[in-house]
Amino acid sequence: MNRVLNYINGNDVPPSTGRYIEKTDPRTGIALSEVGDSARPDVDAAVAAAMAALPGWRAMRPAERGRILVEIGRAVRNSIDTLGAIESAETGKPGREMPQLMALIAQYFEYYGGIVNTMDGEVINAGPDYHVYTRRDPFGVIGVILPWNAPLHQAARAIAPALATGNVVVAKPSEFTSGSLIALAKLAEAAGLPPGVLNVVVGTGPSLGPAMAGHPDVRKISFTGSTRAGRELGRIAADRILPLTLELGGKSANMVFADADLDAAAKGCTAAFTWNGGQWCAAGTRLLVQSSIHDTFVDKLLAAVAGVRVGADSEASYGPMTTRAQFDKVQQSFDLAHSLGLVPAVGGRMAQAPKEGDGWFIEPTVYLGVTNDMEIAREEIFGPVLCVIRFEDEADAIRIANDSDYGLAAGIWSRDIGRVHRVAAALDAGRIVVNEYSGGFVQTPCGGFKQSGYGREQGMEALAHYTQLKSVIVRL
Ligand code: NAD
Repeated sequence: MNRVLNYINGNDVPPSTGRYIEKTDPRTGIALSEVGDSARPDVDAAVAAAMAALPGWRAMRPAERGRILVEIGRAVRNSIDTLGAIESAETGKPGREMPQLMALIAQYFEYYGGIVNTMDGEVINAGPDYHVYTRRDPFGVIGVILPWNAPLHQAARAIAPALATGNVVVAKPSEFTSGSLIALAKLAEAAGLPPGVLNVVVGTGPSLGPAMAGHPDVRKISFTGSTRAGRELGRIAADRILPLTLELGGKSANMVFADADLDAAAKGCTAAFTWNGGQWCAAGTRLLVQSSIHDTFVDKLLAAVAGVRVGADSEASYGPMTTRAQFDKVQQSFDLAHSLGLVPAVGGRMAQAPKEGDGWFIEPTVYLGVTNDMEIAREEIFGPVLCVIRFEDEADAIRIANDSDYGLAAGIWSRDIGRVHRVAAALDAGRIVVNEYSGGFVQTPCGGFKQSGYGREQGMEALAHYTQLKSVIVRL
């Protein structure tokens, strides 16, 4: 069986423990590969390799680093089929999504490869006796810890700006989706990235996360994952005053006003909670519908949901839950809804997958009559489960949307331009999408309010989070 090993200093390195974790195919429940169950000595080796590579990479002119990043982007575009095949097999995502997704990954390297050349400090006027300026310096070794729901996307959006700004990286993918990042690291090296600049350590979070956060040469961590694990990491980081970027969970509100294009909203709100089977941090899983159009809109919504097809094939709307634990978690949410007296308008049980009977498929599930105080409306499920909540007016919609521990994203469906901007300004969320529900662009900053995290990935903003600002004050 295929073994996924660490990738350190340009070499495949078996885990120091000699142990492996079985990775299962989410479409079939059959073993797909074995992933190294690495431990602290593997983190130490990866950090040592990164430290050795740091002086050369940091000293390289930004234009040259940028050129290598653009070459990595080109290599990704030339390997869409192979990279996409690994990503699709590990996550269960439909194959038809891969060309677009892999192109997005290439874009991160192209974008940061380009804008690194515009990243300057500023000259500050402190009078004729001084020359004062600021510089943006890299941290050094950045630890990147990643989840399994969009593995290469989250890897690229953290790794590309970290490398562009002169840092070196030790990345830890999820133990459920490690193969695609190893493949990307090898492509990057073939495209000109010096060995040791990007290292990948595979294994579990509880074993590797504390080893990374506790290592004295790791100077910053970019973490994408659950609020639970982010909190644990934060506790370790506090001891070292280690800077973190935390991209955590969400329970995002998507609100439909009576003046919206209801047909477009029904389709968009369906995609918002079913894309990737709801395994999407920003998924719009709290659907707020204005009372005056509630019943009409729900009819349209359920018609749109009926068109969603769950399956193992390349053309399905979405595939299985990527992990068995996630499948179980969604099933538990059905039990929770039942205990709250909720009856699903559609779904609410394991989907049928005739040919692949053992896969972890869940059909889209919609609960009507949910109130925002119910536990099912407050906890992230990370599956294709929608809670429909009524609201009366604009103030009510804002109040309900903001009544959450999370604040990752929100959607507004309305044709009233004044309302759109008023509501967008009032919402406690890091990304507001109007009259569609998408993940934004490489260029748009991404991150959360409240327990959805802090710091920002994507866009120009990420450059600020992968560098430290230094003031130089010269007495003339
Ligand atoms: P997870 O927190 O279980 O795991 C994420 C990563 O952290 C994995 O690599 C895991 O091995 C590691 N990890 C686990 N425990 C750790 C610990 N104690 N210390 C350090 N690392 C640890 O999350 P998941 O189940 O892989 O991903 C789903 C979660 O990620 C959801 O909550 C989702 O909302 C969130 N997410 C957020 C974003 C975002 O941009 N905000 C994007 C994708 C996913």
